[in-house]
Amino acid sequence: MEISNKVSVITGASRGIGKAIALRLAKEGSHVAINYVRNKEKAGEVASLATKYGVKAKIYRADVSDFKSVKAMIENIVNDFGRIDILVNNAGIMPSHHSILDIPIEEWKRVIDVNLTGYFNVIKASVPYMIKNMEGKIINIASVAGKMGGTVGPHYAASKAGIIGMTFSMAQELLRYNITVNAVAPGPIETELISNLPDELKDRIRKRVPMGRFGTPEEVAEAVVFLIKCDYVTGEVLDVNGGYYMD
Ligand code: NAP
Repeated sequence: MEISNKVSVITGASRGIGKAIALRLAKEGSHVAINYVRNKEKAGEVASLATKYGVKAKIYRADVSDFKSVKAMIENIVNDFGRIDILVNNAGIMPSHHSILDIPIEEWKRVIDVNLTGYFNVIKASVPYMIKNMEGKIINIASVAGKMGGTVGPHYAASKAGIIGMTFSMAQELLRYNITVNAVAPGPIETELISNLPDELKDRIRKRVPMGRFGTPEEVAEAVVFLIKCDYVTGEVLDVNGGYYMD
């Protein structure tokens, strides 16, 4: 798909990886709908940076775990932009507890609600508009944790593995409408989500990356652009992880 003049929705685009994806898509000429949940000011900054590329950009508040809010947001986006061509599901949270012995049930539920059900909600609300145009690209930001567990908690890993399963399933179902569904599985990427982890855990994670460094949000955005541009790829999980495959 040519990205220029398309309409992209990016969830969790006020910061980190989502911000880099929104700005990269804007640079490629796409109009961008920027979702956030708390940081209105930061989302606004991303929108004003995006408009420097000569595209339209607007911000939309919605908690992705709440289907009603998501549906209203998607309807507003279609009213404002006329269509949805590209959806990047990115909004996610990192849990505070990492051991099965400590994880409160409420934290388990919240991580699944935001990281997994949140992706489903946004896809469910957006897909009818893509079907109408018989064209669409969906990219789900998963994680290396969804393929090999890791140290950030079984609820986080389960949500990300769920995203990968959902990607395979939806890729099959939506092919008939000319909609591709792919995932990107980043390793540790230098964002607030990582910088808020305890130093000891951060060092442990960094030592496990064969390239010896965290990735950048822009490196994830590069993979997203590839998956949008290459029409013959669907149901794929693209690792962007500095060679981080084994514990
Ligand atoms: P981040 O810097 O913490 O940013 C999270 C973004 O998600 C923010 O824009 C935040 O909005 C938004 N968000 C959080 N909860 C939301 C909700 N309920 N509804 C709507 N938006 C919500 O995170 P990041 O590191 O960029 O991570 C982005 C994605 O990549 C996540 O899915 C994460 O699991 C995945 N990932 C990250 C890494 C990594 O190492 N950083 C590695 C693998 C995968 P506000 O600013 O409004 O709070």
